[in-house]
Amino acid sequence: MERTLSIIKPDGVTRGLIGDVIRRFEKNGLNIIAMKMIHMDKTQAEGFYAVHLGKPFFDSLTDFMSSGPAVVMILEGDDAIAKNRELMGATNYKDAAPGTIRADHATDIEKNVVHGSDAPETAAFEIGYFFNSFEIIRR
Ligand code: UDP
Ligand code: MG
Repeated sequence: MERTLSIIKPDGVTRGLIGDVIRRFEKNGLNIIAMKMIHMDKTQAEGFYAVHLGKPFFDSLTDFMSSGPAVVMILEGDDAIAKNRELMGATNYKDAAPGTIRADHATDIEKNVVHGSDAPETAAFEIGYFFNSFEIIRR
């Protein structure tokens, strides 16, 4: 069993895609063991994406991530990190495999609907960034 952090980004929430994204997780063996809706401020978004500090897209990305509500979730399952990344599709929706969330819904390389952790270490950091132990379901 592995855990990963998923975010339905502000574009996904605004465009009414929460249900579609969650349905894909439920159908593909990714169990939601924590979930909440948040609206990050700029500083929180910068802290979350600190790994990208200094990149050309950092300022725009953190503006976008703090522009409206987002849904943050912990997904648990076998190979949850890789499975979630597979369901998401490539960062650039133009490269995303058909049938993935980003291929189906993204409108822009930045506004690509979902976030997913990319490794066990980043998953641990990202889960701890949003959730404390009382908010995670014991199964
Ligand atoms: N991003 C962007 N321009 C780029 C690369 C990334 O706007 O050239 C944004 C996009 O929203 C992406 C996020 O920054 O999801 C984080 O980038 P990363 O490379 O970690 O992609 P991800 O892990 O989300 O696929
Ligand atoms: Mg990433």
